[in-house]
Amino acid sequence: MRLTILTEGDKKLRKKSVPVNQPFTSELQDFIKDMIETMYQADGVGLAAPQVGHNLRLFVVASKKGPLVMINPALSKKSLRKQIEEEGCLSVPGVYGLVKRHRSVTVTYLDKRGEKQVQRAEGFFSRVIQHETDHLDGILFIERAHKITKAGGKPVTNL
Ligand code: ZN
Repeated sequence: MRLTILTEGDKKLRKKSVPVNQPFTSELQDFIKDMIETMYQADGVGLAAPQVGHNLRLFVVASKKGPLVMINPALSKKSLRKQIEEEGCLSVPGVYGLVKRHRSVTVTYLDKRGEKQVQRAEGFFSRVIQHETDHLDGILFIERAHKITKAGGKPVTNL
């Protein structure tokens, strides 16, 4: 089932989300499936739960190996080196901006079975994870962007 993506101005996008409690229910599994479907149908590379109206610490990411689900993610070992790239967001349609992000981060999270995973992310993947984690803290990329590059153009990356 395709979910409605909230856009800037909705208060749920500005709230700090709460951790997902275990055990993970079948309702949660259905919600994850819906999030993945919604992300792909919207041509997004990532989608966080608050973007579809649930203030839970969970997001989905499209990877070459298929969709990844990260529940209760925590970032550590953020590289000192940062990179500036253009990014966009499904919740801020038509707006893009240059955002400085850590080149690499380590993300510790629970997968959909509730098993702990640790992953090192670099480059674009690292950027997506930082963008989605920001959503869980009520932060939109436009607050971090030091330059808005274009409005109404072709999407570069919608996260
Ligand atoms: Zn976003």
